Amino acid sequence: MLDLKMSSGGTLPTSILDAERQLRGRSLFGLSNHELTEELAEFQPAPYRIRQLETALYRQRVSSLDEVTTWPQELRERVKAAGLRVGLPQIVATFRSVDGTERYLIACEDGQTVETVWMPEGDGVSVDEPDLPEPSSGSAPAAWSRATICVSSQIGCAVNCQFCLTAKLGIVRNLTAGEIAGQVAAVLNRHGVDPERSRVNLVFMGMGEPFLNFDAFIAAVRLLVGKMGIPESRMTVSTSGVVPGILRFAEEPVRPRLAISLNAPNDSIREGIMPITRKWDIALVLDAIRRVPLRPRERVTFEYVLLGGLNDRPEHADEVVKLVRRANFPGKVNLIAWNPGPGVPFAMPAEEDVVRFQTRLREQGIPAFIRKPRGRDIYAACGQLKKTANS
Ligand code: SAH
Ligand code: SF4
Repeated sequence: MLDLKMSSGGTLPTSILDAERQLRGRSLFGLSNHELTEELAEFQPAPYRIRQLETALYRQRVSSLDEVTTWPQELRERVKAAGLRVGLPQIVATFRSVDGTERYLIACEDGQTVETVWMPEGDGVSVDEPDLPEPSSGSAPAAWSRATICVSSQIGCAVNCQFCLTAKLGIVRNLTAGEIAGQVAAVLNRHGVDPERSRVNLVFMGMGEPFLNFDAFIAAVRLLVGKMGIPESRMTVSTSGVVPGILRFAEEPVRPRLAISLNAPNDSIREGIMPITRKWDIALVLDAIRRVPLRPRERVTFEYVLLGGLNDRPEHADEVVKLVRRANFPGKVNLIAWNPGPGVPFAMPAEEDVVRFQTRLREQGIPAFIRKPRGRDIYAACGQLKKTANS
């Protein structure tokens, strides 16, 4: 059973927050065309004024209404006077790894912070994927040719996977569509990146379970694809196996690639490390995934965190082979050596066991890749995100 209770750790009382928000104004970033039209109804703007605002918000990623220079000043002033503002999330702290990875704390309106990770040269997930387009020539900054942004969907997480540091927070709250898409905008601004001309991938693999915040997650995807110009084929969402979310995802016309955090060769081992298995077992998750209409050459990723001695034995690899075959959809396995965290009682797998696991899968015809850990030294690697300013 999932523990979905909300923890109020570190936040201010709602009445104070509401008053503060009134003072600072209502945010426009994150609203769809329809929502912007409603929010600005009192100004009766022509539809093209809304489109100009969308261009400023999502293509230029402006941080204040003064920068919406396609609008007459008088309109900007009236909108500001009504208490509306851009509200683009701001990076308030940056941690830089020796491998170039950066982890950011991004401030939310209510004083909470959310974590986002920038990985130049990718995250090791897509290395062997032949179907990613090459970057357009001459556009990417010299320091990197391909980068991945790891995006959070919630503050904390309710799913309580035993090996994950984020789980220790419990669920604090869902992020809004603006807070999810805003992480991407803030990081693109920091690196001066035009996503239409550079090869930027997004992975929804930061803090939280995207499919337990489905509406905001999918609204953010629509903005990122439709308004910010990032192709959905460059996005991957990872779920711990929330079946109703997978079924909704299957109905979405615009959607990222899908990854499922398998992490165990069978239900009994999985139940021990991922309590969500008791609600939706592996068979139910695979049934739901079969409903997702895959695009040509698309494969579903099985993520598999290797925990020393627990799920990294050759017989476990053989079980995974059977499981992936039985799944009966095109799949591949990403192996992730467990990243340690304080108070998380597991062991890192031996390097030779990781390689042996991969070889065993490959020998039996299952595409398997080893995902390089990124930013372990700054707690930016998978499962290490936990709102903290000092590590
Ligand atoms: N909540 C979603 C997405 C975020 S977690 C999910 O669980 O799929 C992203 C990935 O990090 C998941 O595959 C998860 O299994 C993995 N992960 C979590 N903790 C980890 C750790 N300590 N070391 C390595 N990978 C970890
Ligand atoms: Fe949540 Fe994913 Fe961590 Fe599990 S692995 S606790 S679902 S963030």
